[in-house]
Amino acid sequence: MPTGQKLPDNAIVIEAAGKTLLPGLSDVHGHPFVANWGRHFASFLEGAGDGVQFVLPYDLQMFLQVACGITRLEILAGCADALWLREAIRAGTLIGPRLSVGSPLIDGNPPVHAQSMSYMVGDREGGVRAGNEIADRGFDFAKPYTRLPADGFDGLMDACAQRGLRVMGHVPVAVGVEGAIRRGQLGIAHAAELFLKCEEPERSDRKRRDRIIRLMADTGVWLQATVCVIRRMEWIDTGGPYAPPDMDYLNPVLAAFWAEAGPVVSARRAQAMSMFTNSYASTCEWTNAARAAGVRILTGTDFMNPYVVEGFSLHEELDRLVRDCGFDPHDALFGSTRLGADYHDEAAIEGTVSVGARSDLLLLNSDPLSDIRATRDIDAVIVGRHLLRADGIAEGLRRVREAYTRMPVVEPE
Ligand SMILES: [Zn+2]
Repeated sequence: MPTGQKLPDNAIVIEAAGKTLLPGLSDVHGHPFVANWGRHFASFLEGAGDGVQFVLPYDLQMFLQVACGITRLEILAGCADALWLREAIRAGTLIGPRLSVGSPLIDGNPPVHAQSMSYMVGDREGGVRAGNEIADRGFDFAKPYTRLPADGFDGLMDACAQRGLRVMGHVPVAVGVEGAIRRGQLGIAHAAELFLKCEEPERSDRKRRDRIIRLMADTGVWLQATVCVIRRMEWIDTGGPYAPPDMDYLNPVLAAFWAEAGPVVSARRAQAMSMFTNSYASTCEWTNAARAAGVRILTGTDFMNPYVVEGFSLHEELDRLVRDCGFDPHDALFGSTRLGADYHDEAAIEGTVSVGARSDLLLLNSDPLSDIRATRDIDAVIVGRHLLRADGIAEGLRRVREAYTRMPVVEPE
Protein backbone atom coordinates (compact mmCIF):
# COMPACT_ATOMS: atom_id res chain seq x y z
CA MET A 1 0.00 0.00 0.00
CA PRO A 2 1.66 3.30 -1.02
CA THR A 3 1.89 5.58 2.01
CA GLY A 4 3.75 8.45 0.37
CA GLN A 5 6.49 8.06 2.96
CA LYS A 6 10.12 7.66 2.04
CA LEU A 7 11.45 4.20 2.79
CA PRO A 8 14.36 3.99 5.20
CA ASP A 9 17.67 3.20 3.46
CA ASN A 10 17.95 -0.25 4.99
CA ALA A 11 14.37 -1.28 4.21
CA ILE A 12 13.88 -4.72 2.70
CA VAL A 13 11.57 -4.48 -0.30
CA ILE A 14 9.58 -7.56 -1.24
CA GLU A 15 8.23 -7.69 -4.75
CA ALA A 16 4.69 -9.00 -4.23
CA ALA A 17 2.98 -8.30 -7.57
CA GLY A 18 0.66 -11.17 -8.43
CA LYS A 19 1.03 -12.71 -4.99
CA THR A 20 -1.41 -12.93 -2.09
CA LEU A 21 -0.76 -11.37 1.30
CA LEU A 22 -2.78 -12.61 4.25
CA PRO A 23 -2.46 -12.76 8.03
CA GLY A 24 -0.41 -15.63 9.45
CA LEU A 25 -2.33 -18.86 10.04
CA SER A 26 -3.30 -20.32 13.38
CA ASP A 27 -3.22 -23.91 14.56
CA VAL A 28 -5.28 -23.88 17.73
CA HIS A 29 -4.66 -27.52 18.61
CA GLY A 30 -1.13 -28.87 18.70
CA HIS A 31 1.18 -30.96 20.85
CA PRO A 32 4.82 -30.03 20.25
CA PHE A 33 7.12 -32.97 20.90
CA VAL A 34 8.85 -31.63 24.02
CA ALA A 35 11.01 -33.65 26.37
CA ASN A 36 8.34 -35.26 28.53
CA TRP A 37 6.48 -36.51 25.44
CA GLY A 38 9.80 -38.00 24.28
CA ARG A 39 10.08 -39.95 27.52
CA HIS A 40 6.45 -41.01 27.27
CA PHE A 41 6.67 -42.44 23.73
CA ALA A 42 10.07 -44.03 24.30
CA SER A 43 8.70 -46.06 27.19
CA PHE A 44 6.62 -48.06 24.67
CA LEU A 45 9.46 -48.76 22.23
CA GLU A 46 12.44 -51.10 22.32
CA GLY A 47 15.78 -49.33 22.07
CA ALA A 48 14.41 -45.78 22.36
CA GLY A 49 16.30 -45.05 25.59
CA ASP A 50 14.87 -42.18 27.58
CA GLY A 51 13.46 -40.67 24.40
CA VAL A 52 15.23 -37.36 24.75
CA GLN A 53 17.44 -38.01 21.71
CA PHE A 54 14.25 -37.97 19.60
CA VAL A 55 13.29 -34.48 20.56
CA LEU A 56 13.90 -32.18 17.61
CA PRO A 57 15.72 -29.07 18.93
CA TYR A 58 13.09 -26.60 20.03
CA ASP A 59 14.26 -23.85 17.68
CA LEU A 60 13.75 -26.20 14.72
CA GLN A 61 10.32 -27.25 16.01
CA MET A 62 9.21 -23.64 16.21
CA PHE A 63 10.84 -22.91 12.85
CA LEU A 64 8.75 -25.68 11.26
CA GLN A 65 5.59 -23.94 12.41
CA VAL A 66 6.60 -20.57 11.01
CA ALA A 67 7.91 -22.19 7.82
CA CYS A 68 4.38 -23.48 7.27
CA GLY A 69 2.93 -19.99 7.70
CA ILE A 70 1.72 -20.58 11.26
CA THR A 71 2.13 -17.55 13.49
CA ARG A 72 -0.23 -18.60 16.27
CA LEU A 73 -0.22 -21.98 17.98
CA GLU A 74 -2.25 -23.18 20.91
CA ILE A 75 -0.78 -26.08 22.86
CA LEU A 76 -3.36 -28.39 24.35
CA ALA A 77 -1.91 -30.33 27.22
CA GLY A 78 0.96 -28.19 28.37
CA CYS A 79 3.91 -28.77 30.64
CA ALA A 80 6.87 -26.79 31.98
CA ASP A 81 8.75 -26.91 28.65
CA ALA A 82 5.72 -25.58 26.77
CA LEU A 83 5.55 -22.63 29.19
CA TRP A 84 9.28 -22.07 28.66
CA LEU A 85 8.76 -22.01 24.87
CA ARG A 86 5.98 -19.45 25.23
CA GLU A 87 8.16 -17.17 27.35
CA ALA A 88 11.25 -17.55 25.14
CA ILE A 89 9.21 -16.55 22.07
CA ARG A 90 7.65 -13.64 23.94
CA ALA A 91 11.08 -12.44 25.06
CA GLY A 92 12.40 -12.70 21.50
CA THR A 93 15.14 -15.22 22.30
CA LEU A 94 13.40 -17.82 20.14
CA ILE A 95 11.59 -17.24 16.85
CA GLY A 96 8.25 -18.95 16.65
CA PRO A 97 4.49 -18.58 16.56
CA ARG A 98 2.76 -16.83 19.44
CA LEU A 99 1.92 -19.59 21.85
CA SER A 100 -0.89 -20.06 24.28
CA VAL A 101 -0.47 -23.02 26.55
CA GLY A 102 -3.19 -25.17 28.05
CA SER A 103 -2.97 -27.08 31.29
CA PRO A 104 -2.07 -30.75 31.55
CA LEU A 105 -5.14 -32.92 30.92
CA ILE A 106 -7.63 -32.56 33.76
CA ASP A 107 -8.94 -36.08 33.91
CA GLY A 108 -10.37 -38.65 36.30
CA ASN A 109 -8.68 -41.54 38.03
CA PRO A 110 -7.26 -43.52 36.29
CA PRO A 111 -6.55 -40.99 33.54
CA VAL A 112 -6.76 -41.83 29.82
CA HIS A 113 -3.13 -40.85 29.18
CA ALA A 114 0.08 -40.84 31.21
CA GLN A 115 -0.12 -39.64 34.79
CA SER A 116 2.84 -37.33 34.08
CA MET A 117 0.58 -35.36 31.75
CA SER A 118 -2.64 -35.47 33.72
CA TYR A 119 -4.33 -34.13 36.80
CA MET A 120 -6.38 -36.88 38.38
CA VAL A 121 -9.49 -35.33 39.83
CA GLY A 122 -11.89 -37.37 41.98
CA ASP A 123 -14.34 -34.78 43.29
CA ARG A 124 -15.35 -31.13 43.36
CA GLU A 125 -12.50 -30.14 45.67
CA GLY A 126 -10.01 -31.77 43.31
CA GLY A 127 -11.43 -29.73 40.41
CA VAL A 128 -11.07 -26.50 42.38
CA ARG A 129 -7.50 -27.41 43.33
CA ALA A 130 -6.59 -28.22 39.71
CA GLY A 131 -8.06 -24.88 38.52
CA ASN A 132 -6.11 -22.90 41.10
CA GLU A 133 -2.90 -24.76 40.52
CA ILE A 134 -2.90 -24.28 36.76
CA ALA A 135 -3.63 -20.57 37.26
CA ASP A 136 -0.69 -20.35 39.70
CA ARG A 137 1.60 -22.16 37.26
CA GLY A 138 0.80 -19.68 34.47
CA PHE A 139 -1.15 -21.82 32.03
CA ASP A 140 -3.43 -19.85 29.71
CA PHE A 141 -6.44 -22.14 29.95
CA ALA A 142 -7.73 -25.37 31.42
CA LYS A 143 -8.14 -28.53 29.36
CA PRO A 144 -10.82 -30.83 30.79
CA TYR A 145 -10.59 -34.43 29.67
CA THR A 146 -12.76 -37.44 29.07
CA ARG A 147 -12.92 -39.08 32.52
CA LEU A 148 -13.26 -35.96 34.64
CA PRO A 149 -16.23 -36.59 36.99
CA ALA A 150 -19.16 -34.15 36.87
CA ASP A 151 -18.55 -32.60 40.33
CA GLY A 152 -14.84 -32.28 39.50
CA PHE A 153 -15.84 -30.45 36.30
CA ASP A 154 -18.05 -28.10 38.34
CA GLY A 155 -15.20 -27.36 40.73
CA LEU A 156 -12.86 -26.70 37.82
CA MET A 157 -15.34 -24.37 36.10
CA ASP A 158 -15.83 -22.37 39.32
CA ALA A 159 -12.11 -22.04 40.03
CA CYS A 160 -11.39 -21.04 36.40
CA ALA A 161 -14.16 -18.44 36.41
CA GLN A 162 -12.68 -16.94 39.57
CA ARG A 163 -9.15 -16.94 38.21
CA GLY A 164 -10.13 -15.67 34.73
CA LEU A 165 -9.06 -18.82 32.86
CA ARG A 166 -10.68 -20.15 29.71
CA VAL A 167 -11.81 -23.77 29.64
CA MET A 168 -11.24 -25.52 26.32
CA GLY A 169 -10.93 -29.22 25.72
CA HIS A 170 -12.70 -32.50 25.54
CA VAL A 171 -16.19 -33.16 26.80
CA PRO A 172 -16.09 -35.25 30.00
CA VAL A 173 -18.39 -38.22 29.43
CA ALA A 174 -20.06 -37.68 32.81
CA VAL A 175 -20.94 -34.09 31.85
CA GLY A 176 -22.03 -34.57 28.24
CA VAL A 177 -21.85 -32.11 25.36
CA GLU A 178 -24.90 -30.08 26.26
CA GLY A 179 -23.96 -30.06 29.95
CA ALA A 180 -20.47 -28.75 29.20
CA ILE A 181 -21.78 -26.00 26.91
CA ARG A 182 -24.50 -24.92 29.35
CA ARG A 183 -21.96 -24.89 32.16
CA GLY A 184 -19.83 -22.42 30.16
CA GLN A 185 -17.06 -24.45 28.54
CA LEU A 186 -15.67 -22.01 25.99
CA GLY A 187 -14.93 -24.49 23.28
CA ILE A 188 -14.78 -28.09 22.17
CA ALA A 189 -11.51 -29.57 20.96
CA HIS A 190 -12.85 -31.86 18.21
CA ALA A 191 -16.02 -32.02 16.13
CA ALA A 192 -15.91 -35.78 16.79
CA GLU A 193 -16.33 -35.09 20.52
CA LEU A 194 -19.93 -34.31 19.67
CA PHE A 195 -20.80 -37.89 18.71
CA LEU A 196 -17.86 -40.25 19.19
CA LYS A 197 -18.65 -41.44 22.69
CA CYS A 198 -22.32 -42.10 21.97
CA GLU A 199 -23.65 -45.53 21.15
CA GLU A 200 -26.12 -46.09 18.33
CA PRO A 201 -28.84 -45.00 17.77
CA GLU A 202 -27.87 -41.84 19.68
CA ARG A 203 -24.70 -41.52 17.65
CA SER A 204 -26.50 -40.88 14.39
CA ASP A 205 -29.58 -39.21 15.85
CA ARG A 206 -30.14 -36.18 13.62
CA LYS A 207 -32.47 -34.45 16.08
CA ARG A 208 -29.75 -34.61 18.73
CA ARG A 209 -27.23 -33.29 16.21
CA ASP A 210 -29.38 -30.33 15.20
CA ARG A 211 -30.20 -29.49 18.82
CA ILE A 212 -26.52 -29.46 19.80
CA ILE A 213 -25.49 -27.39 16.82
CA ARG A 214 -28.26 -24.88 17.55
CA LEU A 215 -27.07 -24.66 21.16
CA MET A 216 -23.48 -24.13 20.01
CA ALA A 217 -24.49 -21.38 17.61
CA ASP A 218 -26.69 -19.68 20.22
CA THR A 219 -24.08 -19.76 22.97
CA GLY A 220 -21.15 -18.83 20.69
CA VAL A 221 -19.15 -21.84 21.81
CA TRP A 222 -16.01 -22.41 19.69
CA LEU A 223 -15.39 -25.57 17.72
CA GLN A 224 -12.05 -27.01 16.68
CA ALA A 225 -13.02 -29.20 13.74
CA THR A 226 -9.76 -31.27 13.64
CA VAL A 227 -10.91 -33.34 10.67
CA CYS A 228 -7.42 -34.45 9.62
CA VAL A 229 -6.68 -36.34 12.86
CA ILE A 230 -10.01 -38.16 12.72
CA ARG A 231 -9.19 -39.36 9.20
CA ARG A 232 -6.02 -40.89 10.69
CA MET A 233 -7.82 -42.47 13.64
CA GLU A 234 -10.36 -44.03 11.35
CA TRP A 235 -7.52 -45.57 9.37
CA ILE A 236 -6.05 -47.04 12.59
CA ASP A 237 -9.29 -48.76 13.46
CA THR A 238 -10.34 -49.88 10.03
CA GLY A 239 -7.07 -50.57 8.21
CA GLY A 240 -6.53 -50.31 4.51
CA PRO A 241 -3.64 -48.98 2.48
CA TYR A 242 -2.87 -45.45 3.47
CA ALA A 243 -0.13 -43.03 2.57
CA PRO A 244 -0.30 -39.85 4.60
CA PRO A 245 1.48 -36.80 3.15
CA ASP A 246 4.56 -34.98 4.48
CA MET A 247 6.10 -38.07 6.08
CA ASP A 248 9.64 -36.66 5.64
CA TYR A 249 8.81 -34.35 8.51
CA LEU A 250 7.42 -36.95 10.87
CA ASN A 251 9.58 -37.61 13.92
CA PRO A 252 10.99 -41.17 13.57
CA VAL A 253 10.01 -42.17 17.11
CA LEU A 254 6.42 -41.20 16.33
CA ALA A 255 6.61 -43.12 13.04
CA ALA A 256 7.65 -46.22 15.03
CA PHE A 257 5.02 -45.63 17.68
CA TRP A 258 2.18 -45.30 15.17
CA ALA A 259 3.42 -47.97 12.75
CA GLU A 260 0.99 -50.73 11.84
CA ALA A 261 3.09 -53.16 13.90
CA GLY A 262 3.55 -50.57 16.66
CA PRO A 263 2.04 -50.64 20.16
CA VAL A 264 -1.16 -48.73 19.45
CA VAL A 265 -2.32 -49.78 16.01
CA SER A 266 -1.66 -53.48 16.49
CA ALA A 267 -3.37 -53.48 19.93
CA ARG A 268 -6.42 -51.61 18.64
CA ARG A 269 -6.73 -53.95 15.66
CA ALA A 270 -6.25 -57.04 17.81
CA GLN A 271 -9.11 -55.88 20.01
CA ALA A 272 -11.15 -54.97 16.92
CA MET A 273 -11.80 -51.52 18.34
CA SER A 274 -14.37 -49.72 16.27
CA MET A 275 -14.99 -46.35 17.90
CA PHE A 276 -13.56 -44.52 14.88
CA THR A 277 -15.31 -46.56 12.19
CA ASN A 278 -17.08 -44.12 9.84
CA SER A 279 -15.98 -41.28 12.08
CA TYR A 280 -14.43 -39.21 9.29
CA ALA A 281 -17.63 -38.91 7.26
CA SER A 282 -19.56 -38.05 10.44
CA THR A 283 -16.96 -35.47 11.48
CA CYS A 284 -17.28 -33.80 8.08
CA GLU A 285 -21.06 -33.92 8.27
CA TRP A 286 -21.15 -32.35 11.75
CA THR A 287 -18.55 -29.74 10.79
CA ASN A 288 -20.50 -28.84 7.67
CA ALA A 289 -23.77 -28.55 9.61
CA ALA A 290 -22.07 -26.46 12.32
CA ARG A 291 -20.61 -24.13 9.70
CA ALA A 292 -23.99 -23.72 8.02
CA ALA A 293 -25.59 -22.89 11.39
CA GLY A 294 -23.02 -20.18 12.10
CA VAL A 295 -20.93 -21.98 14.73
CA ARG A 296 -17.50 -20.40 14.97
CA ILE A 297 -15.03 -22.97 13.66
CA LEU A 298 -11.29 -22.76 14.27
CA THR A 299 -8.51 -24.60 12.48
CA GLY A 300 -6.65 -27.11 14.61
CA THR A 301 -4.65 -30.17 13.65
CA ASP A 302 -3.92 -32.12 16.86
CA PHE A 303 -0.43 -32.83 15.55
CA MET A 304 1.65 -35.52 17.18
CA ASN A 305 -1.34 -37.78 16.85
CA PRO A 306 -0.90 -40.54 14.25
CA TYR A 307 0.69 -39.23 11.08
CA VAL A 308 -0.53 -35.72 11.74
CA VAL A 309 2.70 -33.95 10.84
CA GLU A 310 3.44 -30.74 12.69
CA GLY A 311 3.06 -27.58 10.64
CA PHE A 312 2.22 -29.22 7.33
CA SER A 313 -0.96 -30.82 8.58
CA LEU A 314 -2.59 -27.39 8.89
CA HIS A 315 -2.49 -27.14 5.10
CA GLU A 316 -4.14 -30.52 4.87
CA GLU A 317 -6.75 -29.47 7.44
CA LEU A 318 -7.62 -26.38 5.36
CA ASP A 319 -7.80 -28.50 2.23
CA ARG A 320 -10.07 -31.09 3.88
CA LEU A 321 -12.38 -28.38 5.23
CA VAL A 322 -12.85 -27.18 1.66
CA ARG A 323 -12.86 -30.55 -0.06
CA ASP A 324 -14.96 -32.55 2.40
CA CYS A 325 -16.78 -30.17 4.77
CA GLY A 326 -18.48 -27.68 2.47
CA PHE A 327 -16.27 -24.70 3.34
CA ASP A 328 -15.37 -22.24 0.66
CA PRO A 329 -11.69 -21.26 0.83
CA HIS A 330 -12.57 -17.91 2.38
CA ASP A 331 -14.42 -19.56 5.31
CA ALA A 332 -11.52 -21.88 5.99
CA LEU A 333 -8.93 -19.08 5.89
CA PHE A 334 -11.16 -16.80 7.96
CA GLY A 335 -11.30 -19.52 10.62
CA SER A 336 -7.52 -19.74 10.61
CA THR A 337 -6.84 -16.00 10.76
CA ARG A 338 -9.56 -13.61 11.92
CA LEU A 339 -11.44 -16.14 14.07
CA GLY A 340 -8.18 -17.40 15.56
CA ALA A 341 -7.48 -13.84 16.71
CA ASP A 342 -11.05 -13.35 17.90
CA TYR A 343 -10.85 -16.53 19.93
CA HIS A 344 -7.84 -15.10 21.75
CA ASP A 345 -9.57 -11.73 22.24
CA GLU A 346 -7.02 -10.13 19.95
CA ALA A 347 -9.12 -9.30 16.91
CA ALA A 348 -8.22 -5.62 17.28
CA ILE A 349 -4.54 -6.30 16.63
CA GLU A 350 -4.41 -9.63 14.86
CA GLY A 351 -5.96 -11.72 12.15
CA THR A 352 -6.25 -8.97 9.56
CA VAL A 353 -3.93 -7.15 7.22
CA SER A 354 -4.42 -3.58 8.36
CA VAL A 355 -2.56 -0.59 9.76
CA GLY A 356 -1.95 -1.11 13.47
CA ALA A 357 -2.32 -4.88 13.33
CA ARG A 358 0.48 -7.21 14.33
CA SER A 359 2.96 -7.89 11.52
CA ASP A 360 2.42 -11.64 11.41
CA LEU A 361 1.94 -12.13 7.69
CA LEU A 362 2.04 -14.77 5.02
CA LEU A 363 2.88 -14.08 1.38
CA LEU A 364 1.74 -16.77 -1.04
CA ASN A 365 2.78 -17.21 -4.65
CA SER A 366 -0.78 -17.81 -5.78
CA ASP A 367 -4.33 -17.16 -4.64
CA PRO A 368 -5.73 -19.53 -1.99
CA LEU A 369 -9.26 -18.26 -2.67
CA SER A 370 -9.16 -19.98 -6.05
CA ASP A 371 -7.32 -23.06 -4.76
CA ILE A 372 -6.88 -23.59 -1.02
CA ARG A 373 -3.79 -25.73 -1.66
CA ALA A 374 -1.99 -22.47 -2.45
CA THR A 375 -1.33 -22.09 1.30
CA ARG A 376 1.58 -24.51 0.79
CA ASP A 377 3.14 -22.29 -1.85
CA ILE A 378 4.88 -19.83 0.46
CA ASP A 379 7.07 -16.97 -0.71
CA ALA A 380 7.61 -15.30 2.67
CA VAL A 381 6.50 -15.35 6.27
CA ILE A 382 6.81 -12.40 8.61
CA VAL A 383 6.47 -13.05 12.30
CA GLY A 384 6.97 -10.02 14.51
CA ARG A 385 10.20 -8.41 13.30
CA HIS A 386 11.48 -11.54 11.57
CA LEU A 387 11.29 -12.23 7.85
CA LEU A 388 11.59 -15.71 6.38
CA ARG A 389 11.97 -16.06 2.61
CA ALA A 390 11.50 -19.16 0.49
CA ASP A 391 15.23 -19.96 0.32
CA GLY A 392 15.60 -19.72 4.11
CA ILE A 393 12.54 -21.92 4.54
CA ALA A 394 13.99 -24.54 2.19
CA GLU A 395 17.32 -24.50 4.05
CA GLY A 396 15.63 -24.84 7.46
CA LEU A 397 13.48 -27.71 6.23
CA ARG A 398 16.59 -29.45 4.96
CA ARG A 399 18.04 -29.18 8.48
CA VAL A 400 14.90 -30.69 9.98
CA ARG A 401 15.09 -33.68 7.63
CA GLU A 402 18.77 -34.05 8.40
CA ALA A 403 18.14 -33.99 12.17
CA TYR A 404 15.55 -36.75 11.78
CA THR A 405 17.91 -38.82 9.62
CA ARG A 406 20.59 -38.62 12.33
CA MET A 407 18.28 -39.99 15.02
CA PRO A 408 18.73 -43.65 15.99
CA VAL A 409 16.49 -46.17 14.23
CA VAL A 410 13.76 -47.59 16.45
CA GLU A 411 11.58 -50.53 15.51
CA PRO A 412 8.26 -51.30 17.12
CA GLU A 413 8.67 -54.09 19.69
ZN1 LIG B 1 -4.99 -33.06 21.20
